[in-house]
Amino acid sequence: MKQYRLHIYAIGIFVAGLIVGLSNMIFTDEPQTAPAVVQEVVTETIVDEVSDTPVETVISNVAADEPLGLTETMSLSAENNDETYAKEIRIKSGQGLMDALLNNGAERGDAFNAINSLGDLYNVRKIQVGQLLNAAYSPSGDLVRLSLQKDFDHRINVEREGDIYKSTVEELATQTITRHASGIIEDSLFLAAQRQGLPQITIVELIRIFSYDVDFQREMRKGDQFEIFYERTLSEDGRRVREGNILFAKLILSGKEINLYRHTPDNSDYAEYFHEDGQSSKKALMKTPIEGARLSSNYGRRKHPVLGYTRMHKGVDFSAPTGTPIMAAGDGVVERSSWFGSFGNYVRLRHNGSYKTIYAHMSKYGRGIKKGARVRQGQIIGYVGATGRVTGRHLHYEVYKDGTQVNPMNLKMPSGIKLAGAPFESFKVAMTTTNTQIDETKSHILLTKAITEQAPSISAE
Ligand SMILES: [Zn+2]
Repeated sequence: MKQYRLHIYAIGIFVAGLIVGLSNMIFTDEPQTAPAVVQEVVTETIVDEVSDTPVETVISNVAADEPLGLTETMSLSAENNDETYAKEIRIKSGQGLMDALLNNGAERGDAFNAINSLGDLYNVRKIQVGQLLNAAYSPSGDLVRLSLQKDFDHRINVEREGDIYKSTVEELATQTITRHASGIIEDSLFLAAQRQGLPQITIVELIRIFSYDVDFQREMRKGDQFEIFYERTLSEDGRRVREGNILFAKLILSGKEINLYRHTPDNSDYAEYFHEDGQSSKKALMKTPIEGARLSSNYGRRKHPVLGYTRMHKGVDFSAPTGTPIMAAGDGVVERSSWFGSFGNYVRLRHNGSYKTIYAHMSKYGRGIKKGARVRQGQIIGYVGATGRVTGRHLHYEVYKDGTQVNPMNLKMPSGIKLAGAPFESFKVAMTTTNTQIDETKSHILLTKAITEQAPSISAE
């Protein structure tokens, strides 16, 4: 018998492994509150119910997206115990709450009073078509209970006490799980992620958090890779899902890794995404990409120093000694690094989909500053000079947002913090925790796959 149970257990793991293998994705779990979607629980269910459980049933038990609802069957049997009659009511098109209750056996006075009470906690006018109500009636036909789901994790219960109704909000138990997915980008990140079963809302968030680092229009190549580790919250019955935060994400672009960790820094109420070195993904462009310089000409209308007539100066000038280093205002890619007419020696950087910066009149270029090179914020891209049409040595600096020049001094960009000292130490601890969670998830996948491979010989016994 013991051997038999082991055998069944192995099949259980095999089935679960197959599903995981198919979806190439796994649910990690909190074993103490395991619901139907967790593999181990399903496996045990098979052991208990032994031989006749059809495989199809097993699969529908573990299927991530459509787990079986448990609470409805449970609540029905509970209603039976106190001899009330329970009824599920679904709001139909053009129907209000009142109509729905009257059409389903409630007396007008009861319905009116119950809805009045419900109205304290719920905007009854905004009830949606398809909304499910759970009503219960006494043997004599009085409406004794009415409940409905308010949002993902709240239910409103209206209870009759004597002749009046009272409403309360019930916080519903939920379970947060983590998921891991990775893939190779053949066409677009969006499609690659979708193929791995990532929900749309999570893919959009994935693209958003990388948008400061990556120009998705130009930098993605076939064969680039992504990895993501994110949360999902499940309702107690496993039927409803709320997508959660991305805890970690990685892009490998032309062999270069970009990692982002979600973290709430000490002394902050807001989570942000950080690179391993503590740099926030939200990097502001530097307003002054040069040290020890004097702002010599501001953005706006001015009389041109060489041409003599008034024209728009669509940049800012910084006066500094020839040879003063000029820094990349932000992380990005060199789009041009060559002589450009009146601009002289000229560099243009593309920072992401929206921002570009240009640097003109340089005496020489920084080392390795060639078209296509990636630069980090603060990296030296050139040196102050007086090349092109100028009266004296200075840096002419422009910022483009979505194709038009903007005043760099008025840039409203998120301030990109870099963690240092104690906050950086806390971040490193958090990073280690996340990495451990990811490793556990990955080893879980490997274990399941290994058992899957052995499984045919076991089931042939
Ligand atoms: Zn200028």
